[in-house]
Amino acid sequence: MGRPTFPRTLAEFQRRFGDEAACRAYLAASRWTEGYRCPRCGNGAGFELPRRGRWQCKVCGYQTSVTAGTVLHRTHVPLTQWFWAAYLVATHTPGISALQLQRQLGLGSYWTAWLMLHKFRRAMVRPDRDRLRGTVEVDETYVGGPEVGPRGGREKGEKAIAVGAVEVRGEGSGRVRLSVTPDVTARSLTGFVRATVEPETTVITDGWGGYASLESLGYRHRPKIQGERQRAKRILPRIHRVFGNLQTWLRGTHHGVDKKHLQSYLDEFTFRFNRRGVPMAAFQTLLGLGSQHRPVTHNQLRIRS
Ligand SMILES: [Zn+2]
Repeated sequence: MGRPTFPRTLAEFQRRFGDEAACRAYLAASRWTEGYRCPRCGNGAGFELPRRGRWQCKVCGYQTSVTAGTVLHRTHVPLTQWFWAAYLVATHTPGISALQLQRQLGLGSYWTAWLMLHKFRRAMVRPDRDRLRGTVEVDETYVGGPEVGPRGGREKGEKAIAVGAVEVRGEGSGRVRLSVTPDVTARSLTGFVRATVEPETTVITDGWGGYASLESLGYRHRPKIQGERQRAKRILPRIHRVFGNLQTWLRGTHHGVDKKHLQSYLDEFTFRFNRRGVPMAAFQTLLGLGSQHRPVTHNQLRIRS
């Protein structure tokens, strides 16, 4: 049977997920890719209890919720609206604000929209744990301000500093990692590289001394010395394209962000960037259908339902 396919257009999406029953069927198909199986006795015959959103085993009577382990569990928001929201977040390239989501879905409350996006953001962080490899560009930028490098500017104040790494794939880019950093010291910058890039990777940076110890930390460090800071765009084109897109998104969609929430926005940007060719995977991860539920135990079900 395998996983259900992903709708290619918004029209197709709305046809397929037009009501609660269709969404429940999709959850069941995502959950039991080989067909229904009772998590308690392993029997393969069950039937749906639609009004409870559960399946019941024909042999032992055990009930399983199709939403257990997903962000949809115990929600009061209709499944159709969750699905639509996840579709918009997964496919809408510049992302979406809580206000836009509230308007698009016709939600009664701004806070419902905000909470849904918040839950999606939590699902965005976990899948990106493995480190970058191959050849990687690394640099830093001010976030929330004009494009001046953190070392050149006098303007610190409100602005935050983000450090980023992106894989070189021919002329284009592979995966990205972004993190808020308190400063541009060697300690902070090499700490970021060690957390996000595999040892023995070729790391391209500019000539900043903060990166000087990378070679001794087990990386193939290729510093490119530039005259002025402005030339960084040419010597590190990929990470600067990432920074440019990030700035545009933060300004355009969110009209700037609070410094203390910046990391979660960086996570969201990273999530979408790294899945730009696979909206299906993005959609499923957002809903918590990701790498598939382990069978829910009886105790868990009692606590959660
Ligand atoms: Zn059973």
